[in-house]
Amino acid sequence: MSYARVLSVGLVGVSGHLVEVEADLSAGLPAVVLSGLPDTALSEARDRVRAAVVNSGERWPNRRITVNLLPAALPKHGSAFDLGIAAALLGAAGELPLVALDGVVILGELGLDGSVRPVRGVLPMVASALRAGVTRAVVPLANAAEAAVVPGVTVKAVETLHRLLAFVREGEALLDPPPEPPADDGSAPDLADVAGQALGRRAIEVAAAGGHHVAMFGPPGAGKTMLAERLPSVLPPLDDEAALEVSALHSVAGLLPTTGRLVRRPPFQAPHHSASLAALVGGGSGMARPGAVSLAHRGVLFLDEAPEFATRALEALRQPLESGRVQLNRTGGGVEYPARVQLVLAANPCPCARPEGDAACVCSPSARRRYLARLSGPLLDRIDIQIELFPVTAAELFTTGRAGEPSATVAARVRAARAAAEARWSSRGWRVNAEVSGAELRRPPWRLPLTDTLLARQQLDSGTLSARGFDRVLRLAWSVADLDGRDRPSRDDVEEALSLRMGGRRRGLHG
Ligand SMILES: [Zn+2]
Repeated sequence: MSYARVLSVGLVGVSGHLVEVEADLSAGLPAVVLSGLPDTALSEARDRVRAAVVNSGERWPNRRITVNLLPAALPKHGSAFDLGIAAALLGAAGELPLVALDGVVILGELGLDGSVRPVRGVLPMVASALRAGVTRAVVPLANAAEAAVVPGVTVKAVETLHRLLAFVREGEALLDPPPEPPADDGSAPDLADVAGQALGRRAIEVAAAGGHHVAMFGPPGAGKTMLAERLPSVLPPLDDEAALEVSALHSVAGLLPTTGRLVRRPPFQAPHHSASLAALVGGGSGMARPGAVSLAHRGVLFLDEAPEFATRALEALRQPLESGRVQLNRTGGGVEYPARVQLVLAANPCPCARPEGDAACVCSPSARRRYLARLSGPLLDRIDIQIELFPVTAAELFTTGRAGEPSATVAARVRAARAAAEARWSSRGWRVNAEVSGAELRRPPWRLPLTDTLLARQQLDSGTLSARGFDRVLRLAWSVADLDGRDRPSRDDVEEALSLRMGGRRRGLHG
């Protein structure tokens, strides 16, 4: 036999496609020809495969070897085809009866010594194979745990090329994936740790209920980061479909093998303001990797000290905030990643980050204005909740006691509120209040009586609230009503919404 083929998977973004790895041996000068749009890493496969085969004690076929990856039109990246190439090549040389590998996808990078090394994206690869009707996979041992979380696929693992060959020739056993590690215990940050801060806590709860973005302004020590970190703890856990989607993104980024379990909690990502554009929205060499905005998909993206981020970085977030997706264009084919996040911004009142009135602050009023103005415009425009926070005083600590309400209690209210909103809007394709169009809320049957919106209308007339800001107040009012179990917002709900919207008023950030 001088021809053989095995199955593997090629990944573009988080979607995989079955790839046939063909090998053909013919007379002629000894050489290896790889075809089927290989990128650089794949061309290097030639050298890795040769060394791995020889160092596994196999004979290298000294003939003209053609390896072809089909479909040819599909761009192929990375090193996950190595193991499949080695198997096809030895099969074509007549060294390996490949019948045991029929209907099995083979994934793994080869080390020069014949070891099988982990690759990124194994979870979405195995999930794609299943969608294409393939229910068996051989993966690197280090990726076995993440591959095994895909229900409906029988996963076996190898740590060396030799083990795969021994299985094919002698039927020796492959390795089983390690048992799934126990679910994460309750070590996530809890709202019970936040003392006082009634406005901040309420903002987090309303944000969770309605899917609203949040901006918090205030000096260091006002608890902005503590509050932001606790938003995921009051959001509903990810359902099966969302968990697979989020886990696939983390797998492509190479972050899953360390945990070996599905991501079940809404993720929290807090990139530093010095993070590169690639780290923030995605990029890197070869196939672009997901950035923080995609790793936070269906969870929370927190930008602390937001005005310190480069303008370019803040602008790059506009597209994902609008569409819920990131499009990364590059030579050799674009990649798209999901990126539906809840954004939380925090900012100090001035560039030196000292509390207001601190004698050591020498920032001029205009420097302070310029600093916060960096956020205005497209980004701040999308943020429903904008509040100002102050450090907790001793008196507040004393009156409210030490422990706040725990996240579990708040999460139960959020769950009920979300169910109410979904029942109301699902026929229109909206899930949460933050998605509802302003025009819809100003029309019957959702229009509120004039008396209930009086205060907001006065702000609109006096110009302290923009027309868009008015719609945001309406959305927030519905979230407040949902949380408190009312059919529709009351006058008090609208006024609370106004305070959640206008909390940045003193600094001229509202609108
Ligand atoms: Zn200052």
